[in-house]
Amino acid sequence: MPKYILPQLPYPYNALEPYIDTRTMEIHHQKHHQGYIDKLNASLERYPWLFNKTIEQLLENISQVPEDIRQSIINNGGGHYNHSLFWKIMAPPVQVGGGQPSGALAEAIDSTFGSFTSFREQFTETALNRFGSGWAWLVKDKSNNLKVYSTPNQDSPLMEGYLPLLGLDVWEHAYYLLYQNRRADYINAWWNLVNWPEVERRYQ
Ligand code: MN
Repeated sequence: MPKYILPQLPYPYNALEPYIDTRTMEIHHQKHHQGYIDKLNASLERYPWLFNKTIEQLLENISQVPEDIRQSIINNGGGHYNHSLFWKIMAPPVQVGGGQPSGALAEAIDSTFGSFTSFREQFTETALNRFGSGWAWLVKDKSNNLKVYSTPNQDSPLMEGYLPLLGLDVWEHAYYLLYQNRRADYINAWWNLVNWPEVERRYQ
């Protein structure tokens, strides 16, 4: 009874060109994301009642997941959750991707980081300085405070009680075909794709 299935992308594979190329999107979605889902399902087969929990519930209460599958849920459940979010917080650049947030989120970013520019710099630095594979995040804590930080591997902010609003995948599989080792170029290009209306929706 495999429960988790690969969510469809909200846009075609070529929609994020020229900032993220079609081939990278195909492999990232069909191979990497599918791989996390397959391993997540395989681990949960050993405790089928856990299929009744949402992926959010599993990650938010990770210490209650049986120890023998806990690391697999962190890696593969985190991988599934993080990528599902990643596809949604991007949008084709000619439609809604890029630009800046507005409304309550824009105000919160200004009051937390000083300005959108300083937020963007801090997030970019965080993504650049993540050693090896991982993610950069804008999260909201339980008191509604914003924070920028990064996690290794597929570790999800949900495990630390944060709600992720915006996430950037800096695993090499996310950019190597087009950018090779130039992570900074990938990050700068990615800002043109951010789906701020979706990030604002998550904030509210
Ligand atoms: Mn990835």
